[in-house]
Amino acid sequence: MSALLSIRNLKAGYGGAIALSDISIDVAEGEVVCLLGSNGAGKTTTMSVLTGLIPAMAGTAVFAGKDLLAMSTHERVEAGLALSPEGRKVFPNLTVEENLVLGSYNTRARERRAARLEEVYSLFPRLVERRSQKAGLMSGGEQQMLAIGRALMAGPKLLLLDEPSLGLAPKIVQLVFAAIREVAKSKTTILLVEQNTRAALSVADRGYVISHGTIVYAAPTSELRESQLVREAFIGSD
Ligand code: ATP
Repeated sequence: MSALLSIRNLKAGYGGAIALSDISIDVAEGEVVCLLGSNGAGKTTTMSVLTGLIPAMAGTAVFAGKDLLAMSTHERVEAGLALSPEGRKVFPNLTVEENLVLGSYNTRARERRAARLEEVYSLFPRLVERRSQKAGLMSGGEQQMLAIGRALMAGPKLLLLDEPSLGLAPKIVQLVFAAIREVAKSKTTILLVEQNTRAALSVADRGYVISHGTIVYAAPTSELRESQLVREAFIGSD
């Protein structure tokens, strides 16, 4: 399988502080790959470099055969990258449907807007009931589903999910991850960043462990589940 996304020796930081010193990740088409790591390990920073929010200091990232790091954020969206951000960041004063439609303003997505809206509503039936409600009035779990739905409206080749479990009660985390498994079944390629290892491993095919800005371990999910390092570092503390 050829890689849809191939990151090599990525380095990035904030001002003089290095947050990522050596990140190499591959995501093949159709795969769900998770990036595990504790608070401050560099997971969100990796996402920020991929979306163009912060520049890379060194390294390469090839996405769908193109040099991702040379593209503007807008060009990355046009190329098929979509992010569901940490903390969800839905527009609270807009309705659910208005939030979803905002996800489909790129040229690739605009034509298929109506069809995509139906796809997102069938993935997340809760959003149908709430379609005319202001997003800010919804529960955390519903807002998370909305953030994922909005990213899906772009018709992404690669869906980036940053900490979808953040701030949600365990029962709601299960609901959101059941929805992510449905998205995965529809053959959407996903790169998932999570502190909740158990939840991440319930959906991922493969994973990477990031620590202090470096990838320290990469393995298929079954191996990560058995790994002493992963157990000691994360699973006990979920
Ligand atoms: P979290 O789950 O808390 O988001 P993370 O693995 O996503 O953790 P990052 O947010 O990528 O970690 O942080 C990596 C490092 O970069 C940390 O040392 C953090 O303090 C630092 N950092 C993150 N954002 C900024 C920023 N805007 N300015 C300066 N330093 C930052």
